[in-house]
Order: sequence, then structure tokens, then C-alpha cells
Amino acid sequence: MPTSDDRLEQAQRERDQLRLRLTQVGDLRPGSLLERHCRCGKPACHCAREGDPGHGPYWYLTREVGGKTVSHLIPASAAELTTQQVAEYQRFRELSRQFVEASERLCELKLSALDRKFCDVFVNRSDGLTLGAVHRSCGAGR
Ligand SMILES: [Zn+2]
Repeated sequence: MPTSDDRLEQAQRERDQLRLRLTQVGDLRPGSLLERHCRCGKPACHCAREGDPGHGPYWYLTREVGGKTVSHLIPASAAELTTQQVAEYQRFRELSRQFVEASERLCELKLSALDRKFCDVFVNRSDGLTLGAVHRSCGAGR
């Protein structure tokens, strides 16, 4: 059985590792990179022919800003780089989610280490009243 000190140390290590990984995050940007082809509408242009893929590809980085979809044209030469930056953003999101979870775990462990009598379980009655705290091991308040 790991002691509560072991658990605290373990949680601290996990939090510290995630914090370190967060400092090593590279260039990132939110959005989705979409490949588009388009037709210019000139009847003499090759894009007017059937089966022609049209002009492009053009790369657009789209994202939601305040409920609206905003698109940025990305030069074809930067499409690969932008793909990496978008993937890095996803990695950052996942890392920060894990970091918050690990931090929360650590805070809880620190709290119970602070005062072993601190009651960490609350009983909620169906009428919405909190009966009071029940300590897991000593049963105080029961
Ligand atoms: Zn055309």
C-alpha cells in the first residue's frame, strides 16, 4: 500500500513532468487546414473543362472566432509547416488538460495532507441539504 506521502510525491512528479513538457511546446495555432480548388469562371480557362481539378490547391486555415468561421489563406509552401503547427496545438490542448488534472489531484492530496481530519466527503441528501462531512477513515460527523 502506498502511503499518502508516496501518493503526494508521485502526484508532484506527474505535475512537474507535465509542466516541463508544457514549456517545450513549439509553434502552434488553432484551426483546421483545408485544401480547396476553385474555378475562376472564365469560359476559356482550363478550369472550365469537365474533369479539370480547377485552380489550386489553395490552403485555408479555418477556425471559429466568436461563433463565426474565419479563414486564412495559407501559401502552399507553408501547408506542411501549418499542418505541424495545428497538430502542435492539439498536443498542447491535450497536455494542458492532463496538466490541470494532475494539478487538481495534487491540490487534493496536499489538502488532505494539510489536515488528516479534513473531511473530504460530503453527503448530499436528496432534498439538497448537505448533512455534513464524513471522514473516510474515522467516521467523524456520521
Ligand atoms: Zn480558371
